[in-house]
Order: sequence, then C-alpha cells, then structure tokens
Amino acid sequence: MAPTSSTNRGRRRVVLLPLPYQGHINPMLRLAAALHSRGLAVTILHPETRAPDRGKLPADYRLVTIPDSIPPELAASEDIASFVFALNKNCAAPFRDYLAGALREEEDGHVAFVVADVDWFAPLSVARELGVAALALMTSSAARFLVYLAYPSLCHKGYLPVQESNFNTTVEELPPFLVRDLDRVMDMARHLAYADLLAHIVAGVRQSSGLIINTSEDMEGMEIERIRSEIARPVFAVGPLHMMTPSLSVHSSLLTEDRSCLDWLDTQRPNSVLYVSFGSLVGIDTDEFLEMAWGLADSQRPFVWVVRPGLVHGCELSALPEELQEKIGSRGRVVSWAPQQEVLKHPSVVAFLTHCGWNSATESISEGVPMICRPLSSDQMGTSRYVCDVWKVGVRVEVENQLKRGGVQAAITRLMEGKEGEEVRERMKDLRHAMSKCTDEGGTSDVALQRLVDFSV
Ligand code: UDP
Repeated sequence: MAPTSSTNRGRRRVVLLPLPYQGHINPMLRLAAALHSRGLAVTILHPETRAPDRGKLPADYRLVTIPDSIPPELAASEDIASFVFALNKNCAAPFRDYLAGALREEEDGHVAFVVADVDWFAPLSVARELGVAALALMTSSAARFLVYLAYPSLCHKGYLPVQESNFNTTVEELPPFLVRDLDRVMDMARHLAYADLLAHIVAGVRQSSGLIINTSEDMEGMEIERIRSEIARPVFAVGPLHMMTPSLSVHSSLLTEDRSCLDWLDTQRPNSVLYVSFGSLVGIDTDEFLEMAWGLADSQRPFVWVVRPGLVHGCELSALPEELQEKIGSRGRVVSWAPQQEVLKHPSVVAFLTHCGWNSATESISEGVPMICRPLSSDQMGTSRYVCDVWKVGVRVEVENQLKRGGVQAAITRLMEGKEGEEVRERMKDLRHAMSKCTDEGGTSDVALQRLVDFSV
C-alpha cells in the first residue's frame, strides 16, 4: 500500500532527475531503488519524453512528469547535443516550479537532496539557487568523466576533433587511451556543439554538491582518485548500481522485453550460447548487419541476438538471404529486446558480443561473462579499451574500415578456444570477485552509498 502523506512527513526525500535515454534511465532508477531500500522516500522527476511507465515503479514512489516541449523528431534524432541543450532550456522553469512547491509544502517529506544526471546542468544550478543540495550522477565510467574534464585541453592540443591519421597516437594526458578511443565527432559544427555541451556539463558538476559515479574502486580506483583531485567536490563511487539494489527489482525498460528467449536458453547446453546486443541507441548499416550475421552463422555456435527496431539502417530481418537463414536455422534466436540481466545470468550463456555500453559491460562483469567487443561510438571505444587491455576480460573484433565476417568469427574463436580465452575467463572470475567485494556489505561502494544516504550540506 502506498504510504499516506502523514507517514512521509518528516521523512527524508530524494528527487531524482534521469536523462531520457535507456542507458541513463536504468542506472538512475537503480540508484533510486538503492536509496529507497535504505529508507529514503523517492520522487522521480522526468521530462515527458520517454517517461517511465508509472505501473512499473514501486507504489510508494512519486512520479512527476514535467513538460519539455521537445519535438518528437529532435527526441529521436542522433543530434544528442541539440536534444540535451533543448531539454535543459525547456525544463529549467518547470523544474524550478516543482522544486519550489515541494520545498514549501514538505508534507511529502523533507527534500534532503536532488540527484540529476550530469547532463542536466540547468536543473543542477536551479536547485543550488533554491538552496537545495544537488548532486550529479555520471551514469558511465570514471574514465569517461576524465574525458569530459580534459576535453578543452584535448581540443587545444589537437587530439580533437579526431582524425583517422592520428588514430594510433597515445593520448598522453589520458592513459590508456589512444586517439581512436575518443569521440568520433568529425563534423566541425557538431564537434563545437558537443564541446560546448561538455563544458556546460563540467561547469555544472564543479558547482554541484558532489558527483556520484556508477563505478567501483576495484575497476577504476586511480580514475576516481584523479577526479577527486580535479573537481574538489565529494565523489561517491557507488556502483555498479545494478548490484546495489535487490536482484532484478528495477523494471525500467522502455521497450517490451521478449522473455521467450529465456525458455529457448533453457533448451541449450550450459556455457554454449553467445548473447549479442548493441544497446538501445547505436545503429549499424546493412553491410555490417549482414557481415555480423554471416560471422555468427560461420561460428557454428548458438546465439541470442537483439535486433531492436531502428538498429539496422534500411534493412529488415526478413530480408536476410535465404542461404544465410538456412545456415543459421534454429541455432539463432532473434529478439527485438531482451531481459538482458536475466540473459547474462543464464547458465547457457558463455560470452557477450557487445557494443560496450557502460551498463552492458558492468552487467556482463557482474555475471562473469567475458566480452567480444565491437564499440561504435561515444564512450564505447573507451570502455572497450578497459575491457580488452586494462582488465583483459574480453577480446575485440578487429575491424579495418568495415567489419567483416572473418573478423567476427576470429574474435569468437580467440575467446572460445585456446589459451587466450582461458586466461580471459580466469581474469573475469577475479574481476567479478573483486567487484562483489566492493558492493557487498562493508565494501567501498556499499560504504559510499551509505555516505550518500546520510548526505547533507
Ligand atoms: N538492455 C536490455 N535489453 C536489451 C538491450 C539492452 O534490457 O535487449 C539494457 C541493458 O541491460 C542496459 C541498457 O539497456 O542496462 C543499455 O545501456 P548501455 O549503457 O549498455 O548502452 P546504451 O543503450 O546506452 O548504448
């Protein structure tokens, strides 16, 4: 039963503001669940665009949607900088109205602090003006936030915008990155808009009450320390957030999950199936899609592949060549959206062919599933660098200009057969173990989360 206002009176309430993308909504709702399980009342404040389904949230959460006046074409476009700037501009006033009202009334609990995605620089500053502690949540890695901090100097030193001729140059200021691991925004106008967005984000974080990062000390201890010294703000490494909430308790998928793949996985041998997914945002062209499909078919291994609407530009699944469909037969299961965490937990799954979104990578590590990396944009190349070369818990698909089926098959063979694959699996066990030590009671993420629960300025 939802508590009445009188039971909330006097309770500490946290107001959380996710950015409306799946890869940002998931960690924010996981943080909400973690704070809720430790006694805080929760309000989710969400722009109208892609607002979560009220029915999927716990009964005693408040969900407040604020008008954003964003045209659907902009919300669906790949021009993320324009979308995020428009959200900040259009939502600042409704956010102010909501927060000022919540502070006046207090009958629903005292607003202890606000947590806004780092991209919400305008609401972070509104909260500060209203005298409310406001923390920023970095949903991706600490290494990614270091890229944000370094962006102006990377531009100044000529690393950015990236040029293919420099791809293999080491970024001295940001080990272990090479230029190829940085954002590939090659169009000058887009590059300038993106640099401007990151400058707003960093300024917002520097003026906030603190930074929460969806990472853990075992994965990124040095990176977290460096951020601490660079922003002189409290830093809370409370991740990975999906491990800080009661198991699978958060239902935040914007698309409907096709759960039939779990039944299909039940029919497969243990440690035999590849799980293939490129997350919620990136698109691939028809050539890459077909080469990927041939690579999977040639590997002779069973697979579950998430082909979500919009993943492939200009190609329908039904258009797969007959010869390819015959070769795959009943060995491949294609779904439009999967219950990913449950799939990764399934004993039949042996490896994850992934775009290396940060959530996907951490979900894979927590289940001890080694990765085959095919990063495509944004933070994915950096995460792939950590997976393959720092933690060494995955292998990459080698790509020269265009992805080829032979590259896919070779990466699968490297991971599944021979000594290298064995070593990768051993290291994955160790990393998984270290990660759960951080998230278990008394571990660094657990302690940081409690510091956050008790946070006041
Ligand atoms: N996800 C899912 N089902 C799918 C594909 C992805 O539930 O079929 C979830 C996945 O578990 C992760 C999120 O969507 O939590 C994707 O976030 P990530 O950071 O990996 O990638 P992005 O979508 O931001 O590129």
